[in-house]
Amino acid sequence: MGDGRGKKDEKGGRTGGTPVSIGATLVWKAIITALVVGLFFSVSTVPAQTAEQNTYARFIMNGVEQIKKGDYRAARDSFEDALRINDAAADGHLGLGMAYFHLKDDRLAERELTRVTEIDPREATAYQVLGELYYRKDDPESAVSAWEKAVELNPSNDSLRLRLEKIKREHRTEKDFNRDVTSHFLIKYEGREKIEAGRIVLRILEDAYGEVGRALQYYPSSEIQVILYSSRQFQEVTDAPGWSGGLYDGKIRIPIGGIERETPGLRRILYHEYAHAVVRAITPRCPTWLNEGLAQYFEGREMDARQRDALKRASQAGKLLLLSNLEGSFMGLGSSEAGYAYLLSLSAVRHMIDHFGMYRVKTVLEELGQGANTGRALSNGILVTYEEFERGWKRTLE
Ligand SMILES: [Zn+2]
Repeated sequence: MGDGRGKKDEKGGRTGGTPVSIGATLVWKAIITALVVGLFFSVSTVPAQTAEQNTYARFIMNGVEQIKKGDYRAARDSFEDALRINDAAADGHLGLGMAYFHLKDDRLAERELTRVTEIDPREATAYQVLGELYYRKDDPESAVSAWEKAVELNPSNDSLRLRLEKIKREHRTEKDFNRDVTSHFLIKYEGREKIEAGRIVLRILEDAYGEVGRALQYYPSSEIQVILYSSRQFQEVTDAPGWSGGLYDGKIRIPIGGIERETPGLRRILYHEYAHAVVRAITPRCPTWLNEGLAQYFEGREMDARQRDALKRASQAGKLLLLSNLEGSFMGLGSSEAGYAYLLSLSAVRHMIDHFGMYRVKTVLEELGQGANTGRALSNGILVTYEEFERGWKRTLE
């Protein structure tokens, strides 16, 4: 993307957290679809001969419906009811494992899904979700072997095949990396010359943990992984655009040489990516303008006079983009459009923080986390509609 912008973006720490987040959402959807299809298939093959078998099938159907609706607790109860009738059926354990997976009870999810593979070693979905669980707990070797099994059983699963290739590349790169931990971060990097770089990065991230945490009154409950790459490794593993200074896709990934001391640019990049990690911990779904606006706010990015002037002129001419057009990834945008999208995001989020306070902004994130769409999250969080917010913000530009 955009040749002319490389230098400026690297220095400014503009980073691309979005595309991979969207990838992860797609994977998520694929898993749910696979599960629901898989379960329907199993259910239709249950011969409904006895009353008991009918009851079993009904519990399974209820569980599937509840999973589709996102009511995972009710789904868990339905699958447990089904298993009380027949504990030896793979679909009951598969459903229960999926319910636990969504409830983030990874230990029980793993137990149930492993049971599925014992009962029915040809159940691809169980291996797919098991791989997800292993990946989540940083056991890439087990994740790779589970996903290889899933792809072998279901060769038409192209999205999983692509994911598997990506993870293998990533794992090859990270295999010999050193590890270092603090209470909040696990950092990995290659080569002894990066020991000092790793310490510097951890120290900055601990500062970010404190500062962003105090501002948002939020401290992620689980450890955040950070991976330091050489520029070449970063390109190979992430496919990030050339201008990307870092990336958050569930892990913070940073291209870094053997730095010996802290630089303002590094601090900005790390605060930016850490802010994405916190947003993700609060809500799996966040409109990109809000996410990138917050990340830029926490990296300490300021608009200069030229940028303020450009926004003012666009606003007076009625040519500002609607925020609702900036909810998806910025990655498909051309370079100047992307720069403009980041600028609008920062400006809108600054207005939100100045006028409504960080506490209210956090409420917006929490509303999103509970499944509200952007309009609803804004009206519940900052008590004005999407349109009113946008009008108020644009007035301040003129
Ligand atoms: Zn970002």
